[in-house]
Parts: sequence; C-alpha cells; structure tokens
Amino acid sequence: MAKFSSSSATRSVVDKYKFKFSKSLGQNFLTDDATVDKIINGANITDEDYIIEVGPGIGTLTHEMSKRAKKVVAIEIDKKLIPILEDTLSECENAEVVNADIMKLNIKELIDEKFQGNKVKLVANLPYYITTPIVMKFLEENIPVTDIVVMVQKEVAQRINAVPSTKDFGALSVAVQYYCDTDIVAKVPRHMFYPQPNVDSIVIGLRVRPYKKYQVENEDMFFAVVKASFGQRRKTLLNSLSSMGVLDKETIRKILAKVEIQETRRGETLSLEEFAKLSNEIFSQTKN
Ligand code: SAM
Repeated sequence: MAKFSSSSATRSVVDKYKFKFSKSLGQNFLTDDATVDKIINGANITDEDYIIEVGPGIGTLTHEMSKRAKKVVAIEIDKKLIPILEDTLSECENAEVVNADIMKLNIKELIDEKFQGNKVKLVANLPYYITTPIVMKFLEENIPVTDIVVMVQKEVAQRINAVPSTKDFGALSVAVQYYCDTDIVAKVPRHMFYPQPNVDSIVIGLRVRPYKKYQVENEDMFFAVVKASFGQRRKTLLNSLSSMGVLDKETIRKILAKVEIQETRRGETLSLEEFAKLSNEIFSQTKN
C-alpha cells in the first residue's frame, strides 16, 4: 500500500469514512511524510523493536512503523477509528490495534501478553490533553521501556528539555530528567496536521537510563521537595521548604548549609544533583 500520510491521502481516508473529528480526544492527524520519517528515525526503529503507539488515529505512523519494527501494538480509544484502521492497516501483519483508554490500561500486562515481556519503545503522536499523564505513567510504573519518542505540544517539549535557571525549568523537567536523557528530534509546525491545531509541536526523545544517575534515598521525599521548591517560584528555597511542614525553619537552614546550597536561592536554580542531595539530607533528618 502506498503511504497515506500525505495531506491528500489523510483527507481522502477521512472523507471516505465521513469521519468526524473529536476535539476533546485531541484528534489532529499528521499529514506530512517527512515528519513520519523523522519520528521513526528519531526512535531508531529496527526489525528487533517492539513498539507501543498511543493513538494511531487513521494509522499513518502505525503503517510506516510496521515496515521497520518487529511488532507494533497501537492503543486507540475511539471506537469509530477501529474499522478505518482495519482497512488502512490491512496489509500490516505485525501491527495490532487495541481499542482502549491508555490511562486505564495495565501496560505491564499488555507488554507480557503482546511482547512476551520484552523491552518496548513508545512512539506516538500523543493526544495533547493527556501528554504528561501518559509520559509519567510509562516512567513511574517501572515499564520496560527504553525510548519514548513522542510528538507533544511545543511548550511541553521545551519544559521537559529545560535546564536549571531558565523560565521553562520546573517540576516536569526534573520529573522526566530524573529517569531520562532528553533531546529534541524535530520541530513540527501546526500546518502539518489536519485539522490544524492552534499550537506548534515538537517531537521529543526521552532515552530512559538503564541505571540510576541520581542517588536518591527516598523518591517520595525527592518529589515532595521538588514540588515544594517549585510551588511558589518567587519564594526562597528556605521559605518554600518550610512550607512543606516537615521540618522547622532552623533545621532546614542547617540542612541547606550542610549541603552547601544558599538559603536565598530559588527552586528553579537547583540542578538535579542538588535536589537529590537536599532531599537525601531532609529524609535522613526526618527519620531521626
Ligand atoms: N497517530 C495519529 C497521527 O499522527 O495522525 C493520530 C494522533 S492524534 C494527535 C491522537 C490520537 O489519540 C487520536 O487518534 C485519539 O483518538 C487518540 N486518543 C485520545 N485519547 C486517548 C486515550 N486516552 N487512549 C488512547 N488513545 C487516545
């Protein structure tokens, strides 16, 4: 079958089935072959790869990935798309569509069942209304995933990829970078989609580390410290951490001195190493 990701092909599939787009499901379909190739190359898909796709739409990316990967399992919530996918993916024997809501799915069980527990790559043009929950679900639930290469709203990609002391650096940057090295795969302007959304997009690459880069003794404390530090960005670290209500101000002052972080600094200036050191010290003080 010819590629059907060109603008006219996407429209003709949509017209053939009289498909009505659902804005609330984030349905903006890719219409650009070059972008499909960039996503696939960004994920470095080989014939040994097991791929999970979230939201195949009419199968544009699924179809091309199936040519390169060992197997693709695509999770699509919209029942109306299932017969369309049966048609567009009819020749893709190694592609399977599951009609489900990704947020309600037990992904580990899915990987055991469909991929015999092998490591997977998540490659998708994500529905933007749940980008962060999807990415965090894959990272926090200890899913055997090596790469997450996903199209997201430009601003979200910039936050994920941000470095300390910039306006984009926040709790999301720390949460993702705790698990992954990040890179920008491609910038994708809004006119590459049908219907056209009112935001631009970026394909971001999250390379999940097989080892722990940051020595964190207690992850709950680490993320609580991160959350408090970014809670009110104009507050000094001393005040933000005091508002956690875990330790008194004097103890926090001593902890900050011990880990050599100035109490007047703002949360957004801390590196991940510093967040780790700080949360480890707070954790050891709260244990006593
Ligand atoms: N991959 C297609 C493409 O690039 O043209 C479509 C991408 S579109 C941005 C997002 C897709 O995610 C839609 O097909 C939508 O129906 C689907 N979707 C939305 N919410 C979902 C959910 N909770 N679980 C699974 N799929 C979902």
